[in-house]
This record gives sequence, C-alpha cells and structure tokens, in this order.
Amino acid sequence: MNRRKLIAGNWKLHNTVREAVALATALHERTAGSLAEVAVAPVFTALSSVAAALADSHVALSAQDVYWENKGAFTGQVSAPLLKDVGCAYCIVGHSERRQLFGESDETVRKKLRALLAVGIRPILCVGESLEQREQDATLGVVSGQVSAGLAGIATKDLAGLVIAYEPVWAIGTGKTASPVDAQAVHGALRAQLSYERGAEFAAAVRILYGGSVKADNAAQLLSQPDIDGALVGGASLVLEQFVAIVAAAR
Ligand code: PEP
Repeated sequence: MNRRKLIAGNWKLHNTVREAVALATALHERTAGSLAEVAVAPVFTALSSVAAALADSHVALSAQDVYWENKGAFTGQVSAPLLKDVGCAYCIVGHSERRQLFGESDETVRKKLRALLAVGIRPILCVGESLEQREQDATLGVVSGQVSAGLAGIATKDLAGLVIAYEPVWAIGTGKTASPVDAQAVHGALRAQLSYERGAEFAAAVRILYGGSVKADNAAQLLSQPDIDGALVGGASLVLEQFVAIVAAAR
C-alpha cells in the first residue's frame, strides 16, 4: 500500500497570530510540490487567521486539542464542530504533554476521537512510552495498550483517516531520538496489532507517524523506514528551514 507521508508541525504554545500567519505563508511557498502532505497545528487563537492564510493551500490545518462535547456550559473548551468550522482537517489527540500535564486519559482520548470523527476531522492519536517504561522493556505493551484503549468501541468503518503518532515521551523536546531501527520495530508492531484487531486493509492504510526530536539531520533515515509514514514535529517545526528540510526528506 502506498501511503502518502504526512509531516505535521505541532507549534505547541508558540507564535502570535502575526508570527503564525507569517510562518504558515512561508511554508506554503517553500513546500509547494512536495511529495509529502504537510500540516501545521497553531494555538487555538491563531487557527482562524492561519486558515485564511492557507486558503487553497496544499498545507493543511490542524488543532492541538479538542473537547468532546459539541456545545454547552463548558467554559474554556473548544469543540470539534468549531474546529471544523474554522477549517481544521486534523487534530492532535492524546499528546504526551496533555497526558502528563492535563490529566488526559485513554477514556478522554476516546471521547475526543469520537467527536472528531463525527465531524470528519482526522485525529492524530499520540502514543508513547516513558523512559522508565522503555528501560523496563514495556514499550510495546504500553503503546499497544494506548492504541487499543484509545480506539475501543469505535467501529473500524468510522476510523477512516485516523493517523497514529508514535512519540516516545523521553524523545520529545529532549534532542534524543529513537534509532530508526527501534522506531521501525514499534511502528511494525503497531501495524501488526492493527491488522489483527481491525483487519489487514485498515492496517495497510493507516499512517503511523514518528515524533520525538525529529530534525533536518535525522529525518531522512527515520522516514525511510517501511512503517514510518511521516513525522509529528515539535521544536523543529517552528524553524522554517528545519521544517522545510524535513518535508523534503519525506519521499
Ligand atoms: C511533539 O511535541 O510532538 C514533538 C515531537 O516535539 P519535538 O519534535 O520538539 O520533540
């Protein structure tokens, strides 16, 4: 199966509206004609302006989080229909920073996935093990458990467009990266699990991104692995030249 690679930039809590629009506009110009699909995830307050700047662009818009209820007395939350309204094609769910700092659980991940899928936004479901778990050889059990629990009860036919991001927690923002061989081993295992749980056709179509200190100088090796279908990029996505080089490394 020929899966088009996806390079998604998670801008986290960075960039004013003006900065976000400038970066998105430059990315649009510099990644035109790229083989990979490109997406950026600005903060909520910049989504609308970045969407306008990217109208008719090949660069897709992503949100960094969502709330599962559509509307009501939920002060401070942003719903899936509102993300759809502003033009989001993707939304990150279950990022390790949200799991660690904001109490995200497999149950809230599942609710968020359902809400996004219901409005046709593609979730980017993040999974990954801590350093302690890796040292205890628990990596595969942890990530496969997060995938199973995150998708539990959602029919396979409703999961079209799902993207999974394998992001070892110890590699996020640390400058440490899983070796291409180690990352491939996890990606291959996840695909085998999906094939067993959801069928070969679904498993062959789903894109599994790698995330964790992806930079211009390590992207090509990671992205050349057979089951690595792109990258979720944090720090390096804020630096135009870095991100452009990562996109160019995806073939
Ligand atoms: C991320 O936040 O998803 C991420 C992978 O960050 P970084 O590239 O900075 O490690």
